Amino acid sequence: MEHAVYLDHNATTPIRPEAADAVGAHLGCVGNPSSVHRYGRIARRTLEEARGRVARLVGARCADVIFTSGGTEANNLALSAGGRIVVSAIEHDSVLGAAGGARTIPVNADGIVDLQALDAMLADGADLVSVMLANNETGVVQPVADVAAIARRHGALVHCDAVQAAGKIPVEMRALGVHMLSLSAHKLGGPGGVGALVVESSLSIEPMLRGGGQEGRRRAGTENVAGIAGFGVAAELAGNGLESFAGLAAMRDRLERRLARLAPGAQFFGASVRRLPNTSCLAAPGLDSETQVMALDLDGVAVSAGSACSSGKVSVSHVLEAMGAAGASAAIRVSLGWNSKETDIDRFLDSWGALHARAARDPAPLAVA
Ligand code: PLP
Repeated sequence: MEHAVYLDHNATTPIRPEAADAVGAHLGCVGNPSSVHRYGRIARRTLEEARGRVARLVGARCADVIFTSGGTEANNLALSAGGRIVVSAIEHDSVLGAAGGARTIPVNADGIVDLQALDAMLADGADLVSVMLANNETGVVQPVADVAAIARRHGALVHCDAVQAAGKIPVEMRALGVHMLSLSAHKLGGPGGVGALVVESSLSIEPMLRGGGQEGRRRAGTENVAGIAGFGVAAELAGNGLESFAGLAAMRDRLERRLARLAPGAQFFGASVRRLPNTSCLAAPGLDSETQVMALDLDGVAVSAGSACSSGKVSVSHVLEAMGAAGASAAIRVSLGWNSKETDIDRFLDSWGALHARAARDPAPLAVA
C-alpha cells in the first residue's frame, strides 16, 4: 500500500531523486573498478568521486573511507578485532550483536551515557569503546567527544556509530576524536545496502571479508559501484542541506506541543536534552505501541514502534528500558525527513487524535478493525 504520510525516516528515508539518477546511470555502465582497462578506470573514477563526497561529509580523508554493504557491516567490521569491548546500553543491535560479552555503559533518564561510569569501567582496562552519535529511537545526541577523550586517556580505541547522525547534524570525525565511524547511505537519502566505515589513517584494520584486495585490502569483494555513486550524491546533498534539516525541529516541536494538548499525560523521551531535529519518541497512557502503529497504518500514516530495523519486530525497546522510562510499551517513534511537509504533521495529529479520543471513550483494548 502506498502510504499517504511517511514519518519513519529513521528506519529508512526515501532516496533523493538525484541519488536515484546516479544509481540508474551507473547501473547501465559496465566495468569492474579493479580492472585496468578503460571500463575499469571509469568505474574506479566513479568510486573515488563518491569516496571523496562521503569523506567530506564527515571531514575525513578519502583514503580513510572503506565502503561496506551498510551500517550493520560497518559496525561489525569496527568491532571485529574483538578484545575487551565497552559499549553503551543504547547501541543499535548491529553493535550489541557484534560485541558479544562486552561491558555496557549505563545511560541516565535522558538517555545520555554516564561518563563517570565509563571512566570507572575503563580503569579496569579496555581495548575498544563504541558509543553512537545519535540514538535511532530517541534521537538523543551523545557526548562522543567526551567519551573519546576519556577512552584515549585509558589507551582504548573509539568507534562511533554515526548512522543516524550523519546528514542530519554536523559530523566532524576529527572534532569527535574517534578512530572509526560508521555510516549508512539509506539513512541520508541514498540507496539501501551501501555504507562505510571511516577509519583514521594511523589505524590499520584487519579485513572481516577476505579474498580480494579491494578497499585498500580492508574489505574484499567487488564494490557496488552504482549504489556507492548514489551514496556519494546523497552524502553531498545531505551535507549541503544540514541547515534546512535543522528546520525540521520546528515541525517536530509543533507536533509535540499539539499532541501534549490532545493528551496531557503524554511523555516525550529525551526532549529536555539535545536531540536530532527530526525525531520524536513519545508515549501516551492508554495506548500501546502496536495498536498505534497498526491503527495509524490503516489510516495511511507510517510511524514505528521503537526500533524498526528488523521488520515486524515489536518488543519493548532496550533503549527506553536502559533509560528506566515508564510507559516504554506505549512508545512510538515519529521521524521526519528531507521531504516531510507541515501537512504530514497535521495528518498525523488528526489520525492520532481520533485514536486517542476513541481510547479515552472506551478504555478496553482497541480492536483495529
Ligand atoms: N546503526 C544505527 C544507529 C541504525 O539506526 C541502523 C539502522 O537502523 C544501523 C546501524 C544499521 O544500518 P543498515 O540498515 O545500513 O545496516
